[in-house]
Amino acid sequence: MCKDCFQQEIYSFSNELEYKRIENMVNELISSKTLEFIDYFKGAFSKPKFEIFGLGFGSETYHDYNEYECIVCNQKWKISYPDNAWRGFLLKSENYY
Ligand SMILES: [Zn+2]
Repeated sequence: MCKDCFQQEIYSFSNELEYKRIENMVNELISSKTLEFIDYFKGAFSKPKFEIFGLGFGSETYHDYNEYECIVCNQKWKISYPDNAWRGFLLKSENYY
């Protein structure tokens, strides 16, 4: 993390405005060549939420996200955008699997 990219992770955007602020930042950072788009990951898979005797119960839906890299500090960021009930997030890549 450096002063040129994001100052903090956001586990869940609290509202549309906060998301818009990040979206604008991403666009600015990309146009100033500070941030580089790396990849788009399609979510929409599920995995067991918990296991009992090796059997998984429940499922968790993962959401699409984009991955970016800061050219200055090489920190990779994953950004998932809000979609209906899904609030989206901004996380360091190593903190989201
Ligand atoms: Zn950075």
